[in-house]
Amino acid sequence: MGALPSVIVSPKGERQLENGLLWVFASDIDSDISKIDTHLVQLRGRNRAFLGLALFNKNSQITARLLSRQNRPIDSAFFAEKIAAALQRRERLMPGRTSYRLIHGEADFLPGLFVDRYNDSLSIQITSWAMEQYRPEILETLDKLLKPKAIVLRGDVQARRKEGLPLTVELYKGAEPVREKCSFGGSVMTIDLLDGQKSGGYLDQIENHERAARYASGRVLDLFSYEGGFALALAPNCDEVWAVDISERALAQLKENAEDSKLTNIKTICADVFDYLEELAGSEETFDMVILDPPALARNKGALKEASNAFSNLAAKAIKVLKPGGILLGCTCSALFTEEMLLTAIFRAARRARNNMALLEVRGAGPDHPVLYGMPQTEYLHAAFWQKE
Ligand code: SAH
Repeated sequence: MGALPSVIVSPKGERQLENGLLWVFASDIDSDISKIDTHLVQLRGRNRAFLGLALFNKNSQITARLLSRQNRPIDSAFFAEKIAAALQRRERLMPGRTSYRLIHGEADFLPGLFVDRYNDSLSIQITSWAMEQYRPEILETLDKLLKPKAIVLRGDVQARRKEGLPLTVELYKGAEPVREKCSFGGSVMTIDLLDGQKSGGYLDQIENHERAARYASGRVLDLFSYEGGFALALAPNCDEVWAVDISERALAQLKENAEDSKLTNIKTICADVFDYLEELAGSEETFDMVILDPPALARNKGALKEASNAFSNLAAKAIKVLKPGGILLGCTCSALFTEEMLLTAIFRAARRARNNMALLEVRGAGPDHPVLYGMPQTEYLHAAFWQKE
């Protein structure tokens, strides 16, 4: 291990590491790193005390990502141990589930590695250049441990750009198409691992789909429905669901999912929600529940205010079409958009619509998407249930 280059972390960076942040930013590095070309380094404090082993990319703003607080070899055995531990946690937390996020990056202590399991197929996202260097060890371990039918590498995530990685989608194992029929609660969803959005589906919302079903009754409006995660879960408990999305492909899949789930009360509407909701708000249509689950509206800090206003505008119209006593579920999926921002945006919308709204509960992603309390960057999904007076 002595051969690994050392990187000196500033006192501020060291404090952040102690407090649970697993990243060292470029501005918190106090030594010359220009000649380091490797992807693994030792982090040391100003007094040269060993702080841990870290993935390293001198060309990234997130220059080091802590991999281990112990000095140990980072090899196939290391990955086998970490991946087996992540699998064990999932099996314990969600017995009986065959589709879940198996590895959630930093929060599973494997920075920049995300693995979603859909039955017998895996969808992998590697978002850091240094982690990408361990791709052979990771693939070998996953293949041995789970013996999947197919492994898809979804390298089409924007975060890769910042790391100097190409945006690509590759089929590492198996044959096209990679489609898995997955069961969640009572509904059946076919996930397309190569062509679907994100890793194929939105596993982070599964528990919220099931929770939302408890509040469903009468007429439900599912805005930004994708392939029907909410619509399918809620339909058995209500008269009808209107599912709105801009993607024809997603809605075609939703219809197939509804058939497979033996549901006949979901209507799909292919439209831009921003225009469609405006239209609805000016009409006589009303609903007992509205779900608002837009894609990430803020990609960077500069866009936050605009994103918050956009969300608030949508929420004001959603409140308008809600019947008295109706439920609004507002979701956001960006680490920059905090829980407080979501609640404030909905509160502002209610005031603007001159309605009283009571907050019922606030939730995050399911336990297969854990959060590091000392690292807010790992907490990105918020879902708030409100009731109109
Ligand atoms: N609610 C879904 C996930 C939604 S992801 C679930 O729980 O599974 C966001 C969705 O918004 C995507 O399906 C995307 O196609 C859709 N979308 C993005 N912009 C849109 C717009 N302007 N109007 C309607 N749908 C949009």
